[in-house]
Amino acid sequence: MRKKAFAQLPKVDEILAKEKIIYLIDITSRKIVIDEIRNAIDEIRNIIKNADHDLLDNFCYCEEELIEKIIKNVKIRYQYNLKKVINATGVVLHTNLGRSPLPKSALDRIVEVASTYSNLEYDIDLGIRGSRYSHIEDLLCELTGAESAMVVNNNAAAVTLVLSTISENKEAIVSRGELVEIGGAFRIPEVMKWAGAKLVEVGTTNKTRCVDYENAISSETSLIMKVHTSNYKIVGFTENTSVKELGELGNRLKIPVYEDIGSGALIDLSEYGFVKVPTVRDSINAGIDIISFSGDKLLGGTQAGIIVGKKKFIDKMKKNHLNRAIRIDKLTLIALEEVLRFYRNPDMVVNSLPSVKMLCETVSSVKERCEKLKLLIEKKSNSTRFDINIVENFSQVGGGAMPMQNIPTYVLSILHDRLSANEIADKLRQAEIPIIGRIEDDMVILDVRTLLEGDDIEISNALANIE
Ligand SMILES: *Cc1c(COP(=O)(O)O)cnc(C)c1O
Repeated sequence: MRKKAFAQLPKVDEILAKEKIIYLIDITSRKIVIDEIRNAIDEIRNIIKNADHDLLDNFCYCEEELIEKIIKNVKIRYQYNLKKVINATGVVLHTNLGRSPLPKSALDRIVEVASTYSNLEYDIDLGIRGSRYSHIEDLLCELTGAESAMVVNNNAAAVTLVLSTISENKEAIVSRGELVEIGGAFRIPEVMKWAGAKLVEVGTTNKTRCVDYENAISSETSLIMKVHTSNYKIVGFTENTSVKELGELGNRLKIPVYEDIGSGALIDLSEYGFVKVPTVRDSINAGIDIISFSGDKLLGGTQAGIIVGKKKFIDKMKKNHLNRAIRIDKLTLIALEEVLRFYRNPDMVVNSLPSVKMLCETVSSVKERCEKLKLLIEKKSNSTRFDINIVENFSQVGGGAMPMQNIPTYVLSILHDRLSANEIADKLRQAEIPIIGRIEDDMVILDVRTLLEGDDIEISNALANIE
């Protein structure tokens, strides 16, 4: 009987010849289609192998089902892995979700400049080899007041390059309150070791005064380093040394001062409703010699580590061999130039850089969007099982920046009479365009602040598909 059942199994070629399957070969690949036909047939073979007599008695498989299964599996295998998702978490610079979305014009520039040859490292006037930094160096100097600038792969690389260039086999002084770990196991003491710098810790976890730095300076000192404690805050009995004091101390004792700002704001966004944060220009004006920051945190651009400061230090960094391994890529550079150009006009920044726009959006505007989304969901979904409410909540800056900074927002809280919050969240993540929310008090929370244009339609469709 088992033999008879096995004899019913289709041949690979037979299935391959079906119209619906031939069409798949054209849009995917012959190898994947054949693989999936084999897998599907093997699955039936295993069922037969393990079947008891009752099942074998009148065994037959459904060809239609088999073909549908093959089509489904081929499509799953052929879909893109890295893809668009909807960020309804309310974390604006969500590192796991790619930090800053880019303005369309930056992507248009990539298409224009990277689908042809470009003057990436070519000096058009002189007809000789040029520098990839030349395209944004003047712009960065204009925007920050620095003498010189360069860009590497990310800020972690920038920190490493600065330390390796200035402090290899020499002492670098850091406050004990700033020996932080920044996401992904990037720990200041370890980075220093790796870059060959000898760490000299000063002060205490909660208090480090200017005199602590001064007392630690020796003939071996190459650098005073200040690290922005982006992702945690010490509150209570605290004191730290200001950028201005460190700038003065460095200038007086002729020791270079380096500040790893982390997020790095180029303009003061407090006029646009965001909190006041010191800008890169403030640090340059305070006499800091070298400053590094990320391109995709508060700046709202691409992943990059931007270094600005005194020319004599930046020139040395450009010549460091390490730089070759961490250099910025062409596509990033093209997009970064476009994003930096927005900063010549702060109004443009707030209106056109998606993540900055989100951070500055007024709470009343978020509320309006939230009400619209709720109406859209109610129009599309006739399910009475949902209980959806508009509630006040808080968004986060994210990207390890400003953990204490809660931004007032409006969210939709979603309850279902049968499904748990986890089950709804799972279904939203399985939607055509995955929707990532968060769960609070057994409710799914969708924060409207981080939604982009068109996301409302996807969310309402996805909810309408949940029974
Ligand atoms: C985020 C951060 C970094 C790392 O920057 P990446 O661009 O993510 O590599 C380094 N230092 C500080 C202070 C940061 O906040």
